[in-house]
Amino acid sequence: MKVLKFGGTSVGSAAHMRRVADILVREGAGVVVLSAMSGTTDALQRIASFASAGGCDREVALLLAGLKRKYMRCVEELLVGRREEASRAVECALARVASQAASYAGEVSQRVIIAQGELLTTALFTLYLRERGCRAELLHAPAFVHGGEEARVDAVRLRSLAEVVADGGYAVTQGFICSGPDGMIDNLGRGGSDYSAALIGAALGADEVQIWTDIDGMHNNDPRYVEGTFPIRRMHFDEAAELAYFGAKILHPSTIQPCRERGIPVLLKNSMAPDAPGTLISGEEVGGPRYRAVAAKDGITVVRICSARMLMAYGFLRRVFEIFERYRTPIDMIATSEVAVSLTVDSDCRLTEIAAELALLGTVEVETGNSIVCLVGELEHARQGRAREVMEAAGDVPLKMISYGASRRSIALLTDTRYRTRLLRNLNEKLFAGYAE
Ligand code: ADP
Ligand code: ASP
Ligand code: MG
Repeated sequence: MKVLKFGGTSVGSAAHMRRVADILVREGAGVVVLSAMSGTTDALQRIASFASAGGCDREVALLLAGLKRKYMRCVEELLVGRREEASRAVECALARVASQAASYAGEVSQRVIIAQGELLTTALFTLYLRERGCRAELLHAPAFVHGGEEARVDAVRLRSLAEVVADGGYAVTQGFICSGPDGMIDNLGRGGSDYSAALIGAALGADEVQIWTDIDGMHNNDPRYVEGTFPIRRMHFDEAAELAYFGAKILHPSTIQPCRERGIPVLLKNSMAPDAPGTLISGEEVGGPRYRAVAAKDGITVVRICSARMLMAYGFLRRVFEIFERYRTPIDMIATSEVAVSLTVDSDCRLTEIAAELALLGTVEVETGNSIVCLVGELEHARQGRAREVMEAAGDVPLKMISYGASRRSIALLTDTRYRTRLLRNLNEKLFAGYAE
């Protein structure tokens, strides 16, 4: 059994949805996980922000009108016999957004509002599959995908999906949305549809999870910032997980883990060019070039704690880590010297409280606006010259922190975000020239 996930651009218009249906017909029965049509979640999030600010009825109305135009146009271009049913679905979803915005009740309303994109897109696409004569069932993801600290899938409820597929049909469901610990509708965070597909694939013991997007697989560098990047044909789970965690937008950071645990291959494919080979991610060791890829993650904050008490003392780091743990804030990079420790975090929502507690241990400095650039490859520490090669390639970019030696597969460099693109380009030029597969 296959799980196929299509992202926002892949279902971004009637023409794109038709192409997705062509791909499905070619691939055969399967579980189909969809994101909202591109731009929808951004618009819904803006509606929720305006609603929470209060007194922004005009802005909310404009955004709603924009969504209505987009979805009604899609209905008109996509459907014939089921057009009325589809128009009612659009009206109904947008009316729900409008009523939640009008009587905004905080986070619960926000979650209901941003869930409507996936709910509506899957509803329209299911009608279209049926109109094409395919057997298609629409299943409500929050009934079996549960979010929270550790997302999980209810395997018993998942049986209905498996039955549809065993019957030769398509089980269509929403990516991104789930039920929260309170039982209300929730989501897995922005870009979370990839993660939904991986969770569902792992729970079903799927043969393969396919992530269909708008580019031919994982590239060796971020195509948004660097010219001349190229697709990588095969990768190990660990390499893909590091790249996703350190900012390769093509995959949500949590996508790889559920598939790696069950040994389920993940295939990244381009819905705009379905015959292109894409990238196959699996547990098989992949030889080939020494450097595989680079990714960048912005929005990084450095926290530096200087304390003479650290000198020759034990237990100091434990006290530091306990503070971050208490505020449920994960640490990405860490560097220590005799009297100072520097840490990086990608969430600064609890930073004020964290800094206040750390101040009891020493002098605290906080610096925002940084990026981690992570190079993944064969970085065996015992080999001579690897670290030198990477440092030389970084060139004139000022590096604030370096993490080397923790993993055989990666080296992470921290720089001010204004140097991020230069660092990505320098590494591309010096380490990847002539490597295209
Ligand atoms: P979807 O809507 O299908 O989930 P995303 O926009 O989330 O698609 O992810 C695809 C985009 O990720 C690409 O268009 C590309 O700009 C960006 N991207 C960033 N880093 C990489 C990379 N290393 N390889 C491929 N794409 C990348
Ligand atoms: N629609 C959601 C977002 O834009 C989820 C996703 O695309 O994966 O973040
Ligand atoms: Mg995405």
